[in-house]
Amino acid sequence: MTFESLGLHPQILKALTDAGYTQPTPVQQEAVPAAIAGRDLMVSSQTGSGKTAAFMLPALNKFANEPVEARAGKTPNQHAQAARSRGERPRFMPAQPKMLVLTPTRELALQVTTATDKYGTHMRRIKAASILGGMPYPKQMQLLARNPEILVATPGRLIDHMESGKIDFSKLEMLVLDEADRMLDMGFIEDIELIVSRTPATRQTLLFSATLDGMVGNIARRITTDPLRIQIAGASSRHENIEQRVHFVDDLLHKNRLLDHLLRDTAIEQAVVFTATKRDADQIADRLSIAGFAAAALHGDMHQGARNRTLNALRSGQLRVLVATDVAARGIDVPGITHVFNYDLPKFAEDYVHRIGRTGRAGRNGMAISLVNHAEGVHVKRIERLTKQTIPVDVIAGFEPKKTASTRSRPGWKPGDGRGKPAKPGKPGQRTFAKPGAPGKDGGYRGQRDSRSAEGRRG
Ligand code: ADP
Ligand code: MG
Repeated sequence: MTFESLGLHPQILKALTDAGYTQPTPVQQEAVPAAIAGRDLMVSSQTGSGKTAAFMLPALNKFANEPVEARAGKTPNQHAQAARSRGERPRFMPAQPKMLVLTPTRELALQVTTATDKYGTHMRRIKAASILGGMPYPKQMQLLARNPEILVATPGRLIDHMESGKIDFSKLEMLVLDEADRMLDMGFIEDIELIVSRTPATRQTLLFSATLDGMVGNIARRITTDPLRIQIAGASSRHENIEQRVHFVDDLLHKNRLLDHLLRDTAIEQAVVFTATKRDADQIADRLSIAGFAAAALHGDMHQGARNRTLNALRSGQLRVLVATDVAARGIDVPGITHVFNYDLPKFAEDYVHRIGRTGRAGRNGMAISLVNHAEGVHVKRIERLTKQTIPVDVIAGFEPKKTASTRSRPGWKPGDGRGKPAKPGKPGQRTFAKPGAPGKDGGYRGQRDSRSAEGRRG
């Protein structure tokens, strides 16, 4: 199938050729024609499957087929001039976007805006703006004063502008909820409902999510009208292009030694190391920098400027190791990321799927390695149940765990002998593989790290 056959405007087709896209991904093949036909959509499809274009191409297509003057309308400044020329006092004019994309995080919003600029590069005067927490207020007023057709926003900051009358959604034609499951996880449900209540009932609504179960399915049904449900088969978070491994560790010292060792693998182009807390992200990034890695932290306590600098360094390849928390790493799309490390397992199994989706982007292969306490074995099981895959346990000679939990299923070793030596000890650094799915003790998920506080979910 080609992009031409989806019925897209030539200006958009040209941009896709520029971007090096040769054919639509499965989710794009299904979503684009349905959205162009005006249907509401409920879509689940795995990360990295091209969902941004799945909603942005139909939106841009709609704008490309409208006369520019009708579409763009007057900017608030032009309204003011017109009023003055009529001898009236200019009234304040709120921005009246035609399309709104809600995303859970700033990074994701910026990524959607960048993608929009890319896909719309050959269109005349199409304006997309991001409205984000942490962005200076005057800058946002400037963006709104251009009356952009497309707003990409995180819910909180958007509501501030909505309530102060700076944005008016009465002209809204299309509403997109990107990573809806994630926004609900982060507690944005009331914000979303408030925003939706201010938009016209005639709008077209497209909802994207990793899953359409539970709460997400609920809200999806409430805010869409006769939606087409698109579930990309087998996409149930399997990430087949990403090789996965678990290493059991005895304690933090063991974990740190192993991480350092694994990061020296020359097959790693770039890596993201996930931690449960902001403090760990900082500390590990510092420790790795001292050990000679080009490493930096990314988390929700950093100012937007610092976050952008870090992300740019990652994109430009200056940075080899990014140490990040879940919320901050959301939506990172850097093709050079060959490896993802879970220094801590995520709290929710779904987050595991999102985390490892930072690698294996745009059809490349990736490797995801989790460093797991013995007490967290039960959590590995939960992830395996969700992804319906078994994650093989890997042991590196010289870094074998002492405890039994990780070794129980290995051939040549009897449970309970207390030594936990691998069957065939190799040279340090040499890999030996165990059978998948070594059971862990059911000992509370956060194990030794219980006393630390996890990062605030609203990042
Ligand atoms: P998702 O939102 O499903 O996680 P994205 O929209 O972020 O996925 O896309 C993932 C990557 O795939 C991006 O780098 C994007 O540029 C690329 N991509 C999207 N569609 C195509 C396509 N049809 N052909 C090639 N690359 C694509
Ligand atoms: Mg996406």
